[in-house]
This record gives sequence, structure tokens and C-alpha cells, in this order.
Amino acid sequence: MSRTKSPPEPAAAPGWDYAPAPETAPVEIASRYGHFIAGEFVPAADGAEFATINPATEEELSRVARGGAEDVERAVAAARRALPRWSRLPGRERAKYLFRIARRLQERARELAVLETLDGGKPIRESRDVDVPEAARHFFYHAGWADKLEFAFPGRRPKPVGVCGQIIPWNFPLLMAAWKLAPALACGNTVVLKPAETTPLTALRLAEILQECELPPGVVNIVTGDGETGAALAAHRGVRKIAFTGSTEVGKKLAAAVAGSRRRLTLELGGKSANIVCEDASLDQAVEGVIDAIFFNQGHVCCAGSRLLVQESILEEFLEKLDWRLRSLRVGDPLDKNTDVGAINSRAQLDRIRTYLRIGLEEGGRLHECHDQPLPAKGFWCRPCYFTNVQPADTLAREEVFGPVLAVMSFRTPEEAIARANNTPYGLAAGIWSDKGSRIFALAARLQAGVVWCNTYNRFDASSPFGGYKESGFGREGGRQGLRPYLELER
Ligand code: NAD
Ligand code: MN
Repeated sequence: MSRTKSPPEPAAAPGWDYAPAPETAPVEIASRYGHFIAGEFVPAADGAEFATINPATEEELSRVARGGAEDVERAVAAARRALPRWSRLPGRERAKYLFRIARRLQERARELAVLETLDGGKPIRESRDVDVPEAARHFFYHAGWADKLEFAFPGRRPKPVGVCGQIIPWNFPLLMAAWKLAPALACGNTVVLKPAETTPLTALRLAEILQECELPPGVVNIVTGDGETGAALAAHRGVRKIAFTGSTEVGKKLAAAVAGSRRRLTLELGGKSANIVCEDASLDQAVEGVIDAIFFNQGHVCCAGSRLLVQESILEEFLEKLDWRLRSLRVGDPLDKNTDVGAINSRAQLDRIRTYLRIGLEEGGRLHECHDQPLPAKGFWCRPCYFTNVQPADTLAREEVFGPVLAVMSFRTPEEAIARANNTPYGLAAGIWSDKGSRIFALAARLQAGVVWCNTYNRFDASSPFGGYKESGFGREGGRQGLRPYLELER
């Protein structure tokens, strides 16, 4: 089979030269934010607060209330008070609020995208094209379900579960808030939401949008804070259902917190997803897909394709193309519209990634950095890179790095690809690249993963259920399946 030759080595300045193209929409950020409880912004009961910074500059953006047990108590009480009226509202009336929120997210999209990028470090291209539109889409989609719940579960009478406690991570702050809130509200529940400590600002902006939309006070409450705040929320007996996205470590603690009670739990945890490239794949398309699978959002993606399995016959050619593509990636100012890879979300996460890079080398892996353009002097940065000479038992093949670090392995036969892909405690996602439809279906059916993408990666829609197997968690978000955890189904 003939193959196209790799593009020539770029000269001194790799890739192309771009003029700076910063997003310039102004965004007002208050110097302080309180919790959002019963429709009002209020300071923490004990006055505690913490700073949230811009990880691309290390500058303080704002100070945010740090929630303690008393704040959680007030928020849960507000959610309980709001529950009877909200849950008895006809579905078509709840739908109007959700439609209104979706429209308002669209109208304020530019501002939300800039704020997301400032607080979390992700490229503006992604917050603008993925995070914010998908967040609006989730509210639109669930608005459509609010008055049709009995059709979702024929023969049953769907009832809300009550007050929901929702704890979300920093990788898709607004989008995760939308994933959690939209189904809960459509089903008639009230909520206390806790954003991640490094990225609270878009959730608080969403609270302003909820005020604008005149959502009844107490239907959504937002308590900001760190892991202790989250633990206090999870421990509260008034919370009937906990929904969590984040690390497996915290997920296990939450499972212990609800054990023995009739409180409900869904967990969306980490992954070590395999991206399988077969020898008959369209290689340039697959290279682009691999870039998207692991370097999108700096690898801060639970379903990131962090293990690349390439068929041995094409390994060399594939890596040549990958090297070339890595060299042309633009790493830097997340507000620049040409930036591909933004800032690592926090110093703590950068330290974690660096620890993994060190372990990778110590265990005999070979690091390929390729990308060699200068990085900004301030802020948290990690060059996109990959490791070869990784054995299945090595740390980089087993543990989630949650950064732009890819572990490359090879396989000879489809059998071996399946065995390697499934050899992990996780089971969130997988990718297959092949031109042969029968091969794709044969492989996909045997992969232990909640989502399998074929000739694409990291594609989401509110109508497609998302969630994992094994240590990647349980429960689904999105689609009809995503409504189930927010309903009691009476006969
Ligand atoms: P984390 O799981 O500690 O944080 C996620 C959320 O849980 C945050 O809102 C946090 O405040 C809260 N939290 C922390 N401890 C808690 C507790 N005991 N009880 C209740 N809530 C608690 O994640 P992290 O420390 O920010 O990141 C560590 C690792 O987690 C990352 O390296 C990555 O591997 C993984 N992670 C996964 C996802 C995902 O989408 N699945 C998201 C973020 C991080
Ligand atoms: Mn921040």
C-alpha cells in the first residue's frame, strides 16, 4: 500500500506565523463573590473566603466565599423550602425557565467564554465553541423533557427525588454545571451546587443569569469552597441525591458517605481511555483525532484518549506525522484565538503532571516533546508530549495523568488491541480508527467503555448518555438515561 510522505520538516519557525489575535470582549469581575443562597448573594457565615486566579498569568481575579457547614445548612434549607412549589409546578412551566436560561446563556455566550478562559486557562476557541454552546444545549434539551417525563418512562409515575447535592470539577466548569443542573431541574428537584475551588466564576455568573430569568429563589443554590465544603454537602442528610464528577479518590469517599443510607449517588470519575489506530485507518485524519483526544483542553478531560494503541505496521509512519503535528501546535495565551493548548488549571495540577513525567522517565519510557516554541514566563504550562517504550504495567499506562501527556503502545492483531485496551481499572471511553466498518463494529462491541467513538473523538451531545464502567463510575448523564437518577418511578 502506498502512503503519502510526511510533510517536510518546518524551518526555524515551525508551523505558521500568526499575528496575535486576542479575544477582547470586556468582562466585569467583582472583587468579591458570596454564595448564592435563596436567590441572593450572601457572604460566608464565618466570613471566610479564598482567591481564584488566572492560571495563565497567576493574577488574582476575585475573592470567593469559602463555604462551611453553616453555609451548607442554609443552602440545603433554602433548597428544601423551594422544593414543594417547584416540584408541583407543571412540567411545561418548569420548561419555560429552562428555555429562558438556555437563551440567556446564548445571549451572554461571549462574556461566559472569556470568563471561563480567564478563570480556568482553557483556550478561548474551546470555551467559545464547545463549553458555552454545549451548556446552552443541555438546558434546551432538558427543557424539552420537563413536560414529557411520563413518556420517558412509560407506565410509571415519575416523581422528583428531592434536594440534590452536585459537586463538579474544574475542567469544564460551566458545562458540568449545566450537565448537573438541567436534568435535576427538568425533573422537579431543587439543588445545591458546589463548583471547584479553582474555577467558581462561571457558576456564579450563571447564578446571575438565574436571577435574570426569575428562577424561584432556592431552586438552585451555589456554595463555593474546596473539598471540605464538598464533604459537608455530601454529609448533609437533607441531600437525597449526590451527583459527582471528579477524581476516583473522592468518588470512593462519597460512596462511603452514602453507604447504609437510602441516599442516591452517581459518579463520573476518571479514565485511561484507549485510542486504537488500525493499519487501514486514514492516517492524517487519525493524527488529528489523536491530537484532539489528548491535547484538547490540556488533557484535562476525563475521557481523554490518553493511551494510544497503534498497529505495529504503521507505528513509525504514524509517529512521524504526530511529531510534525505536535511541533505546529500553539501553546500559550488562552485568550488568543489561535491557541491550541492553554494553561494547566493550577499549580497543584502542574505538579501532579510533572510527577508523572518524572515517573514515566524513571520507568524507562522515552519522552518525545517535539514542541519547542517558547512558553510564557508566568503561569502554569506543560508542553504537549508523548511517551514511547511504555509497558502495559507502567504507571503511565495505568494511571490518569489529566494533562497533555500521551502513552503510546503498539499492537499486532485486533485481539491484542482489545486485550490491551481493556487492561485497565477504568472504562470511560475509547476510540477506534479504521476504514473498515465491520472491523469497527467488531472492536467496539468488545471494548469495556461507556462511550466508543469511531473515526472521531471527544464528540458530545445532550441526547447521548455519557458515563463509565468499572472505576470510571456509574450512572449516565444526558439522554433519557440521564433523567433516571433524578426521578423516583412510582407504579
Ligand atoms: P477532586 O476530585 O479532588 O475535585 C473535584 C471536586 O470535588 C471539586 O469541586 C472539589 O472541591 C470536590 N472535593 C474534593 N474533595 C472532596 C470531598 N472529600 N468530598 C466532596 N467533595 C470533594 O479533583 P482534583 O483534586 O481537583 O484533581 C485530582 C485528579 O482528579 C486529577 O488529576 C484528575 O485525575 C481527576 N479529575 C477528574 C475529573 C473528571 O472530570 N473526571 C475532573 C477533575 C479532576
Ligand atoms: Mn481560577
